[in-house]
Amino acid sequence: MEKICVAVRVRPPVSEESSTGTFWKVDDNRISLHRSHGTPISGVSYAFDHVFDESCSNAMVHEVLTKDIIHAALEGINGTAFAYGQTSSGKTFTMNGSERDPGIIQQAVEDIFERIQMMSDREFLIRVSYMEIYNEEINDLFVVENQKLQIHESLERGIFVAGLREEIVNNAAQVLKLLESGEANRHFGETNMNIRSSRSHTIFRMIIESKGKDTNSSGDCLSFDTIRVSVLNLVDLAGSERIAKTGAGGVRLKEGKHINKSLMALGNVINKLSDGAKNRGHVPYRDSKLTRILQPALGGNAKTSIICTVAPEEIHVEETKGTLQFASRAK
Ligand code: ADP
Ligand code: MG
Repeated sequence: MEKICVAVRVRPPVSEESSTGTFWKVDDNRISLHRSHGTPISGVSYAFDHVFDESCSNAMVHEVLTKDIIHAALEGINGTAFAYGQTSSGKTFTMNGSERDPGIIQQAVEDIFERIQMMSDREFLIRVSYMEIYNEEINDLFVVENQKLQIHESLERGIFVAGLREEIVNNAAQVLKLLESGEANRHFGETNMNIRSSRSHTIFRMIIESKGKDTNSSGDCLSFDTIRVSVLNLVDLAGSERIAKTGAGGVRLKEGKHINKSLMALGNVINKLSDGAKNRGHVPYRDSKLTRILQPALGGNAKTSIICTVAPEEIHVEETKGTLQFASRAK
């Protein structure tokens, strides 16, 4: 069982606020709450595998947190990286990035194709898919018509989303273009994109298949038994903020419940996984669509990183504590 790598990332402040009471201080791999005159507040201090402060770029996060997962994926090992945190804390910035600072998805994709070039003894087949889980319904972001897809399981394919489009890709530019079109599909017919994106989980998936090139110079078959297949998931989770705070009713409330269900299920699965094999018992993957889809690449031999994003502003201090507690439980 691979240990789950847990990191926290603090985004830069987006609003000038006259901080009166407290601020978050990052010290190496520790984050703690301090009073504005500098004294630490006891009990509000957490250590993780990594803590990235506001000066860290996506490139740095990728280097430390996701590069290993990607390299393992090329060797046939499944992997998953998540961004978890309240809305506006920097999840999408981390995964998708900006023009100046490309996100983890782009870095991973470019990294993979670069590596493939170097692995000249193997032939690769790369497929990508892009889906969203919204209200516990799975929608294909590559094909607008593919809505409410179902999860199936077979001996041959394992757990899979039936009808989800998988595009075969040959280079990074092609993938980035597909992702863009996926984003455009998502906006289709939406009146309030922000609400939807903060309430849905987005899973970008690469399926990496490779086999040893068959022959040596004299034509002998060298590697008939070396087919590798791995799945890599890069996940932008729905906002973790509690529904109580948004004071919602009706549709909004229904959405909130589903998110809580999925995020809660994810939290439970991760807690179980981080408990260590001995006292783990049953891992409740079946409790939500999210955990079910990710199951083959979550736990077991799979490599997993969680990037918990937090906002530095004082108004977010309670949500930030909630995120840090989630992160602590995942360790
Ligand atoms: P989320 O996806 O968690 O709701 P976003 O990624 O949309 O949050 O971030 C909210 C805002 O903060 C965006 O305008 C985004 O560009 C900005 N932002 C987030 N993280 C960073 C960062 N590390 N550096 C610079 N800007 C950031
Ligand atoms: Mg977002």
